[in-house]
Amino acid sequence: MKKIMAIALSAAMLMGLSACGASGAPAATAAKTDAKSSYAGKKLIMATNAEFPPYEYHDGNDIVGIDVEIAKAIAEEMGAELEVSDIAFDSIIPAVQSDKADFGAAGMTITDDRKTQVDFSDTYATAIQSVIVKEDSAIQSVDDLKGKIIGVQQGTTGDIYSTGDFGEDKVQRFPKGADAVQALSTGKVDAVIIDNNPAKVFVQQTSGLKLLDGAYTEEQYAICVKKGNKELLDGINKALADLKSSGKLDQIVNTYIKAE
Ligand code: GLN
Repeated sequence: MKKIMAIALSAAMLMGLSACGASGAPAATAAKTDAKSSYAGKKLIMATNAEFPPYEYHDGNDIVGIDVEIAKAIAEEMGAELEVSDIAFDSIIPAVQSDKADFGAAGMTITDDRKTQVDFSDTYATAIQSVIVKEDSAIQSVDDLKGKIIGVQQGTTGDIYSTGDFGEDKVQRFPKGADAVQALSTGKVDAVIIDNNPAKVFVQQTSGLKLLDGAYTEEQYAICVKKGNKELLDGINKALADLKSSGKLDQIVNTYIKAE
């Protein structure tokens, strides 16, 4: 019940934003006109993959979630209008590199390899990779995964790390995390490795599945920009710092993630 209300609330908030963007004037009024960023009055495009609840997901025709709320604050910081571009997860970095998007916000983990391709903001969340199995599975820990078939979302850290640990031929890649979870339900894979918060949502939405206790890895989420785009990175870090110090970030997170 609380969750449904939270989704309805966030959808209303997002609709409010798009209404402002469409009419032009209110978005400009909300913006800090003294910021004089070169983005002021322009469109700021966020690349994401809206298959990753509660960070970004579809709610009817809207894309909502924690990252969308953070992106709204960033756009406001830069005096810009926000546009959300929903693309495949592994297309986000190329989109940022080729200026098809200004930044990527997608529960994206900072990795050394990605750091060679894009610049990352300060981190805004710590996450873990979790293992989902069938309720009656014999797999009780990460150690039991050896030799098993693991489902992942293509290009994610779940994919990268499990391919490294268990071997290319043991990992099956799916375009969406939900597809990997579906494959687990129907017995096509033995386990799914995916970020903890989406994992909880998927387990809740699908009967007969459970999360293993413990973490496969611990990671930090951050927003990525094109290498060298200091102005945008500074704006993002300023917005993140404001969200952290004002308590707004916690408030956003608590709207989307129920305390246990
Ligand atoms: N945190 C994971 C990664 O960065 C998954 C992100 C996602 O699927 N949106 O690879």
